[in-house]
Amino acid sequence: MTIAKYNMMKYNDRIAVAVSGGKDSLSLLYILAKIERNFPKASLVAISVDEGVRGYRGKAIRMAAENCKKLGIEHCIVSFKEFYGYTQDDVVRRLKKGDKTELTPCAYCGVLRRKALNIAAREVRANKVATAHTLDDETQTILLNILHGDPLRIAREKPLTDVVHPDLVQRIKPFCEIPERETTLYAYIKKIKFQDAPCPYASQAIRNDIRLFLNRMEYRHAGTKFTVFKSIEKIRPAIEKIVTRVELNKCSECGEPTNERTCKACQMLQQLSVL
Ligand code: SF4
Ligand code: ZN
Repeated sequence: MTIAKYNMMKYNDRIAVAVSGGKDSLSLLYILAKIERNFPKASLVAISVDEGVRGYRGKAIRMAAENCKKLGIEHCIVSFKEFYGYTQDDVVRRLKKGDKTELTPCAYCGVLRRKALNIAAREVRANKVATAHTLDDETQTILLNILHGDPLRIAREKPLTDVVHPDLVQRIKPFCEIPERETTLYAYIKKIKFQDAPCPYASQAIRNDIRLFLNRMEYRHAGTKFTVFKSIEKIRPAIEKIVTRVELNKCSECGEPTNERTCKACQMLQQLSVL
């Protein structure tokens, strides 16, 4: 229903599914594989980004690979190490050494992963990237943007992103209206093997506090998450009107699209290199 409502997919799309090896992304892969069987001109490819978190991501990537093999889906694995020369563990070590605490490890990981995913999607010639962001993730991001004082960012975080640059692959979020507990249930019912341990760095993120808050609200006032999501859907058109659309240039360091002179990922890498 969400896919049709937001017109997320076309009969001849080549969709790169971002598969971390967790329950949400594997549930998405299974559902999209089922849909894709009815569209002979469409194709799927799974992309896993290995951030390089020792004792955590390795198992997740193995789970992703096993499930792709079972479904007969091409699987492309890329890593932070090959793209940036650092693993996420290296990033955290450097942040600790340099006593950098303004941004959490997840803030770096998110920016670096987004860039790696976009480049990998282009390399496999996908015209869309599907991510398994659930209703829980979406509502957390909304509150996170507000708490960071960046409410206008909400305009960009749409279920189907606008095409703003030929090198930025369009992103879709087919689970954006599905509560996480339902994607979990689907994974268990389908007996999908997934990585169930949390990332060791997750607890440091402000997102974790927001998750606990939203879960408590949902428990006491059922429907809270959906109400937050719907409220934003209502006001997004108004926000879009006041957000000036900036032309994207090529990053002076890596050539990827950015609205600054140097892209966020290159800025972070530059900062890490001197720590
Ligand atoms: Fe990266 Fe944070 Fe996710 Fe760990 S929890 S994989 S550090 S974004
Ligand atoms: Zn760059």
